[in-house]
Amino acid sequence: MSETNQFDAAFFRRWLATAAAAVDREAGHLTELDSAIGDADHGANLKRGFTAVTEVLEKEPPATPGAVLVLAGRQLISTVGGASGPLYGTLLRRTGKALGEAESVTRQDLAAALATGVAAVGQLGGAQVGDKTMLDALVPAAEALGDSFAAARDAAEGGALATVPLRARKGRASYLGERSVGHQDPGATSSALLIAALAEVAAA
Ligand code: ADP
Ligand code: MG
Repeated sequence: MSETNQFDAAFFRRWLATAAAAVDREAGHLTELDSAIGDADHGANLKRGFTAVTEVLEKEPPATPGAVLVLAGRQLISTVGGASGPLYGTLLRRTGKALGEAESVTRQDLAAALATGVAAVGQLGGAQVGDKTMLDALVPAAEALGDSFAAARDAAEGGALATVPLRARKGRASYLGERSVGHQDPGATSSALLIAALAEVAAA
């Protein structure tokens, strides 16, 4: 377990590269979840987006954590057509903006910035915890990140699993009404992957 509590631009690039690998590995599963309560494109959407993120971060690596997240968010917005592109793009862009121009940040800085990014997702999509969206994983994760990376990972996974019995109130799945009950939300599942990638990189 790493003792450091200073995370630089290279750490954030490793996070997003690890997240991209997880999205690649789990794309089929994400699409399967989206085929049950959506239009079966969540895996492909995120795969396209995160491949583009990895490419741009390799080609023009930004010097600060904030700039890494802002660039990644912009890339997601411009490459992902579905609802999740603008939402994840906003998450990363607003989290990055909140980190400012520091060369390195602490876990506590990131927890506060992530809370800002998550709030921006809520504003953009009009969803709240319990609506069976990515926020069900992201909100508890941002809160738990104040305690540890592992706590954030566990909170995100718990939040994603907790979407199963919920009825969707936002996004495409909400068109299904009661029939959305009994399925895990794809976006909450991908959010848990992103937070797990963060915890993995922090523990390396
Ligand atoms: P689309 O719904 O356009 O096909 P995706 O399949 O890529 O887009 O993403 C679907 C996911 O996006 C959902 O599982 C949900 O987690 C998330 N989502 C959809 N609408 C909203 C919203 N208004 N607020 C937050 N998250 C949302
Ligand atoms: Mg979809």
